[in-house]
Amino acid sequence: MTPPPGVPARTQVAVLGAGPAGLVLAALLAREGVDCVVLELRSRSHVESRVRAGALEPGTVALLRELGVGERLDATAMVSHQFELRIDGERHVLPVTELSGQPMYVYGQQEVVADLVAHRLAAGHPLLFEAEALAVEGIAGAAPTVRYRYEGVERTLTADVVVGADGFHGVGRRTVAAARVFTRDYPIAWLGLLVDAPPSGRDVVYAFSRSGLGMHSMRSPTLTRLYLQVPATDTFADWPEDRIWAQLHTRLSAEGWSLTEGPVLERAIAPLRAYVSDTMRAGRLFLAGDAAHIVPPTGAKGLNLAVRDVRVLAPALVALLRGDPALADAYTATCLQHVWWAMSFSCGMARLLHASGDPFEDSLRAAELRGLATREPGRRMLAEDYCGVRP
Ligand SMILES: Cc1cc2nc3c(=O)[nH]c(=O)nc-3n(C[C@H](O)[C@H](O)[C@H](O)COP(=O)(O)OP(=O)(O)OC[C@H]3O[C@@H](n4cnc5c(N)ncnc54)[C@H](O)[C@@H]3O)c2cc1C
Repeated sequence: MTPPPGVPARTQVAVLGAGPAGLVLAALLAREGVDCVVLELRSRSHVESRVRAGALEPGTVALLRELGVGERLDATAMVSHQFELRIDGERHVLPVTELSGQPMYVYGQQEVVADLVAHRLAAGHPLLFEAEALAVEGIAGAAPTVRYRYEGVERTLTADVVVGADGFHGVGRRTVAAARVFTRDYPIAWLGLLVDAPPSGRDVVYAFSRSGLGMHSMRSPTLTRLYLQVPATDTFADWPEDRIWAQLHTRLSAEGWSLTEGPVLERAIAPLRAYVSDTMRAGRLFLAGDAAHIVPPTGAKGLNLAVRDVRVLAPALVALLRGDPALADAYTATCLQHVWWAMSFSCGMARLLHASGDPFEDSLRAAELRGLATREPGRRMLAEDYCGVRP
């Protein structure tokens, strides 16, 4: 079936998914004059309003600026020079800018996506919403094909290379037969709230309490993001609003700090999971972002890791299309280094910040956290890992 108007039947790179990985990759390739078509399952309004991550590492921000999509970010992002670790109500401030040389930025993932979508469409580059990739075929050859459905009609897109940036549940991951996967399922989920209230302070707060983790974050000067550790088996029926607020007050409680309540705009329960595929490429199909790995949210690394992958992938594809396969051949090995670093930080934080209910184990956690928060090497390591700055 012929492609929709404005979309070629053949391109150099077919990108599945208009999340941070797919859109940043498409922008990097466009800068190098490489043609690509981005296919996205959901509608534009859906991807531009889907609230997920919000903590951007300085390296991610620098790249977005370099790509010409930093204007709104610079005008509205909140610059975060410190975060707080709260251990049984004791407050420990981690001055990340002072310790790591760089601040973090708070800017919603949906805003990053909206900026990249606007930039791509303004340049007239193909991006199809509500286009579901159904299968990727012929990846062992030089011209793989994506079968996709758009406006109820099945169509094909042939490319030199296909990139599965279509998240954990997309077709990319299903098509690449991993030699080995590493997984950890936690008995824990995060109940996340988006609240229509100004943040209760300027800092992100990670609170370890014997009732479980509580976390305070923000998405804008008027929107607060709050999280609670809950059992993975819990549903919304277990968490009426008054119980949520009571637990947030208990877990985040500290002298000189109080939690501002407000109308709950969104709530979600997301199970904690760690997943790494040691195979991020099969023939002419490459994986990037959540399609290849999932980190527990404790490190705020998911989006930043997706951006790190495509920063490696873009030059590798440019070289491959010019006939030099060396960087593409090294793609998985190069990425696995930053993936495992981010995994070690995120899983380490997950181990320390979630209460188990066992008083002995939880006292060990509190002691270990105190050691990290009060001694210079621990403080520096936390700050550098949080900002994604590794010496
Ligand atoms: C509910 C939730 C909350 C999160 N909260 C945080 C957080 O607070 N902090 C943090 O750091 N990280 C968080 N994350 C993780 C972070 O959002 C991801 O790591 C990040 O989105 C990864 O980007 P990506 O581009 O790889 O994948 P995605 O953003 O998932 O993008 C993949 C895209 O592919 C599309 N797609 C899927 N299937 C198809 C198909 N068949 N055809 C075409 N398109 C397809 C999807 O619609 C999506 O737009 C959260 C994730 C989830 C799911």
